[in-house]
Order: sequence, then C-alpha cells, then structure tokens
Amino acid sequence: MQKGEAAKELCTMLGGDMVSTDAGLIARHCQDWHGDITSSAIALLRPRSTEDVSRAVRACAKLGLGVVPQGGRSGLALGAVPDAPESQVVLSLERMDRVRSLSAQDFTAVVEAGVVLESFKEEVAEAGLYFPLALGAQGTCQIGGNVSTNAGGVNVLRYGMTRELVLGLEVVLPDGRVLDRLSRLRKDNRGIDLKQLFIGAEGVLGIVTAVSFKLMPAPDQVSTALLALDSLEDAIELYRLARRQCCDLMSAFEFLPAEAFTLAREGIPDLSLPLEPAHRAYALVELSGSGLVDIEVLLSQFLELAMEEGLVRDGVVAQSEAQARNIWLVREGMNEGQARRGKHLRTDLSVPLSELAAFVAEAEAAVGEALPGAVCVSYGHVGDGNVHLNVLPDPEGMEALDQQIFRAKTVLNGVLDRYDGSISAEHGVGRLKKADFAARASSVQHDLLGRIKRAIDPNLTMNPGCLIDLES
Ligand SMILES: Cc1cc2nc3c(=O)[nH]c(=O)nc-3n(C[C@H](O)[C@H](O)[C@H](O)COP(=O)(O)OP(=O)(O)OC[C@H]3O[C@@H](n4cnc5c(N)ncnc54)[C@H](O)[C@@H]3O)c2cc1C
Repeated sequence: MQKGEAAKELCTMLGGDMVSTDAGLIARHCQDWHGDITSSAIALLRPRSTEDVSRAVRACAKLGLGVVPQGGRSGLALGAVPDAPESQVVLSLERMDRVRSLSAQDFTAVVEAGVVLESFKEEVAEAGLYFPLALGAQGTCQIGGNVSTNAGGVNVLRYGMTRELVLGLEVVLPDGRVLDRLSRLRKDNRGIDLKQLFIGAEGVLGIVTAVSFKLMPAPDQVSTALLALDSLEDAIELYRLARRQCCDLMSAFEFLPAEAFTLAREGIPDLSLPLEPAHRAYALVELSGSGLVDIEVLLSQFLELAMEEGLVRDGVVAQSEAQARNIWLVREGMNEGQARRGKHLRTDLSVPLSELAAFVAEAEAAVGEALPGAVCVSYGHVGDGNVHLNVLPDPEGMEALDQQIFRAKTVLNGVLDRYDGSISAEHGVGRLKKADFAARASSVQHDLLGRIKRAIDPNLTMNPGCLIDLES
C-alpha cells in the first residue's frame, strides 16, 4: 500500500483527531534529541486513552504497519525515531498526560504514560511525597519512555533504576489486547512477574499506557557539595567512604573531570563557577533525608574525615537551594557544552566499580593513541560503575568526523569487552547500538530474545528495527 493510501485508511479508521499527516508535525516527531538524525513516517498518531491506543494498534496491525511508540524523544539510542518511513507510524503518548491517582496512605501513584517526569515529580511533591527518578531530561522525557528504557539518573545509587520503582503496568499488546496489571501491591509473588518483560523493552513488546509507582517520603533536608579531588581513583575511594559513613543517606554522587567547568561555561556562558577551576577532578555529592537525622552535620563530619584521609583538596557546600542548583548546573551544562563542540561520540558504559578507574585510564589511552587530536571527557554516575566516556574528535584531524567517531567507538568497545562491561548502562540499545549489541549477545541470548519477541509480537509490528532484527 502506498504511503498516502495508508494514511488515508488510518484517518478513516481512527478519525482526524487521532491521526495527523501534517508534514511539519511529523518531521518534529521524527528527529532525535540532538537533531543529528531526521526521518519520516506515514502518520503521527496521538491517542487520548488506553482504548484509543488499542484501536490504533489494531488498525496498524490490519494495515501491516509498524508502530513506533514515542515519549518525550529524549532517548539517546534512536529507539523512538522511525527508520522505515514508508511502513511505520509514530504513536506519541503525549496526550495521555493524567495522574490517575495518588495515595499518601499507600505511598503509591498511578500515572499515564505521557506525563512529563518533571510534572509528575511536582505533583507528587505537592502531596508531601517524593518520586526519586531524576535525570537531565526530566523536563521533556515521559513516564512511558522512562519505564520503556528502565531509566537510571542521578539517584540510582540510593533508590535504584526505574524498574525498582514500578509496582504495576497497563500495556497495550501488539494485537490490541490490554494487559491490565496496575497493581498497587508492594509484595506479590504470584508466579512470573510479567511486567518485568515490558520494563526496558524499548517498545518492542507493546505500548505502556499507565504505570503504578512506589513513592517515598519527601526528604526535608538536602545537602549538596562540590569537591575538588586529584583523580578518578580518589573519587571512587571517596564514594566508598561516603557509602560507609553517611548512613545510606547519600542520594547522588557524580564524577566530573578537569574539563567540566570549561565545558559547562561553553554550555551556559553566564554560569558562576562554584569553585576555582584549578583541579584535576571533582565530585558532586548529595545527602538527603527526613526525620531526626541532621543531614548538614552528617555531611560536614564526612567531609572532615575525607579531608583527613587526603581525598578532598577543596570544596564548597551549598548554603541555599539556589547554590545547590548552581552546582548541579555545572554537571548539566557539561552536556550542553559538548553539544556545542559539534558531532562527537557519546557513550554510556558500565564496568564493575572496582575496575572503573583502570578501565577509564586504559580506554582514554587507547583512544589517545588511535586519534591523537581527540579529547576524551569521562564523567557521570560513577557510583554505579557508569561512565560517559565521550570523545570529541579533532576538527582539524586527517579523518572526517564520522570516521573518527567510528574509530573511537571501535577502540573503546574493544577495551570495554576486555572488562566484560556494558555498551549501554542506561540509555538502551535502540537503533543506534543494535549492531554492537547483536555482536556481543550470546546465541542463547539471541534465541531467547527472538522467542519472547515472536511470542508476544508474531507479526513483528511493534517498534520494528529497534533493539533486535528478526526475519518476518
Ligand atoms: C540531557 C539528557 C540527560 C539524560 N540523562 C539520563 C540519565 O541520567 N539516565 C538515563 O537513564 N537516561 C538519561 N537520558 C536519556 C533519556 O532521557 C531517557 O532514556 C528517558 O527515559 C527517555 O524517555 P522519553 O520519554 O524521552 O523516551 P523516548 O526517547 O521517546 O523513547 C525511548 C524508547 O522508549 C520507547 N517508548 C517511549 N514511550 C513508550 C511507551 N509509552 N510504551 C512503550 N515504549 C515506549 C520508544 O519507542 C524508545 O524505544 C538523558 C537524555 C538527555 C537528553
């Protein structure tokens, strides 16, 4: 069926409110976060309810169209960007944006997939509670995308990945049936936990339409510090010390390299720097809690100890929310600064914490040898063994940028394989890392993934081209 005909059929079957064929709107929904990749689609579907999603999925199945589920498009693995414009539609959850219920008695909430993470956090905070998932894209990403990528973020070391926050799901399956498991039970061991299949599945098994989450008591005390250190090794030692000394009340520990301030200033020119930019490494440490513990005292005692042990060279503790925000802006501004340097290799790797420093040293040396003019920028949620080891190619280099990026990736992955690490600690596989993922998955893994996919999506219509390739 021609693209135009398919779009017309969809309009007839689903109505003009749900189906858009507006070229500008489609183009906006077919671009990745960085604007590096632009694609197209037959149509954009914007359902308003679970029933609408079910009707849309059935209609697409009837027409043999692939459905690409889409949240806030902040995913960095091209999972939500179609790759076959003649046979795929984008299904955006943006209109399913209601918090269905919120219970302070049960510490739970039921929320639709299209709710933006930041709005959800705000609504939860208004009820005196706390939803701990926190990431740089929280003003854009949506709950359905968070669940489908099993998002991590800055609070993982204390609260776990998204998977650990989910109590239940509502999912529209590829045949249009609805798996309604919006449980609010904390404990439920009745056999195989089916919801786990859809968390982190990147939309290849069905469309998440609503989620029930655990909530936490709101921390009424938060202390944020930016510390200057000598090295990544010292940062990891500092992290271990904090785990032991801070009563499990550490909620974030981010590593920043020497280039952090320069990049953050390039990203946010009027950023006021919280520390002299004269050190080899930095750690952003945050403690939070509620109740009788004095978080400020805990942090200052911990810092005294860390200084006695020679781990901390200098530091600043935020005295207000505005100062804490400013410290976080250094971390967030780094992403923007790197983007302004142009096309570069962005990675999201993990190795066991005990091997992280050795891995980063070896990987940076290998990239330096292969691409002498390139700059490595290593930073991130190192407490989780997770590092963004990004490579900014040399604009004056002998090779084109794309070639340099490809070479850097090959070199890095080679080192990573020796450490038995992951090519995707948080962002998922999507379309971007599919080949690298396939090359590293065992035959048993391939076989199981293929069987699960075919069992749930026998016609392979759900997010085709994402995560795995199977012959139809
Ligand atoms: C500045 C920045 C900082 C970031 N920081 C972090 C971080 O710290 N930790 C982290 O984990 N990630 C981070 N990310 C990546 C990204 O924000 C997360 O992966 C996020 O969870 C994606 O949500 P989204 O709504 O934007 O999903 P999208 O990008 O729209 O989609 C992502 C994937 O999920 C699928 N999908 C989306 N919605 C649904 C649904 N309802 N049902 C089924 N499938 C669906 C899509 O098909 C796609 O495969 C960051 C991104 C940026 C740009």
